[in-house]
Amino acid sequence: MSMLVDLGKGIVDAFGKLGTNLILDDKTIDAVIRDVTMALLKADVNASYVQKLRDEVKSQLDPKKIAEGANKRDLVRQAIIQSLIKLVDPGIPPFQPKKGKTNVVMFVGLQGSGKTTTVAKYARYYQRKGFKPALICADTFRAGAFEQLQQNATKIKVPFWGKKDETDPLVIAETGVNFMKQEKFDLIIVDTSGRHKQSADLLNEMEQVANTIKPDDIVLVMDSSIGQSAYDQAAAFRSKVKIGSVIITKLDGHAKGGGALAAVAATNSPITFLGDGEGFDALRVFNPSSFISTLIG
Ligand code: GDP
Repeated sequence: MSMLVDLGKGIVDAFGKLGTNLILDDKTIDAVIRDVTMALLKADVNASYVQKLRDEVKSQLDPKKIAEGANKRDLVRQAIIQSLIKLVDPGIPPFQPKKGKTNVVMFVGLQGSGKTTTVAKYARYYQRKGFKPALICADTFRAGAFEQLQQNATKIKVPFWGKKDETDPLVIAETGVNFMKQEKFDLIIVDTSGRHKQSADLLNEMEQVANTIKPDDIVLVMDSSIGQSAYDQAAAFRSKVKIGSVIITKLDGHAKGGGALAAVAATNSPITFLGDGEGFDALRVFNPSSFISTLIG
């Protein structure tokens, strides 16, 4: 898992400092918290979030709150682990497509984030769960978007809707969703335009598409390598539409990952999947506590 492995190792090393002495003094605890903090900052986790985590861990370890005879070593570990889980888990259950109804899911994200690839991975994942997915290309901005989604759809054998000569994404999204509903597809996935930056044009278009098709879920796709700018990016998307879920991509690369993971806590939307490869099967269900356990395993 790329440089997140370094984060995990940094935390495990910090825990190692807790040693085997029965008595833990404040200095040792401070040193451990400092090391964990450093590891998080190195992994691109937002500095203000790291500060919050440090305060939280310290308050949990307040001597007045600790029972006599409690195992301080466990308390330190648990406090840090709980804070790390909170970092990637806003505590909101993510949207799950339901069988027997039409689920409309809209994908948003910057160009190059891996959105179109992730749309295909997502369709395939639910296809295997017995859903009947269909894809809609409402990306009228990027040249070649139509062909890319069409190729992906063909490879995973999922029906596809798009209009190469139509320039209005609202028309495509609306007619596409209506058509696929009539055809009784139960998971209609709409790929929208990306831009290189979170420009006003992109955000307004995204808002209009969302208002037109009224999706059951809006998935924000984020590249794990975007580092510290992850927070602002997620916040910009969220300021316009209700992001229900987040998918972090390219965790197989050299990304530090922490930025994208932490942006999730800051914007209050749960991560649902992680992308870790270019193939359509490279999608893993995200579970906050098992993710953290694996990280520091
Ligand atoms: P879009 O512009 O957001 O629609 O991005 P694309 O889906 O076209 O993806 C951009 C590039 O990232 C393509 O070369 C994809 O193969 C690649 N990509 C997408 N997801 C992943 C991933 O999880 N891991 C890796 N290594 N590459 C990915």
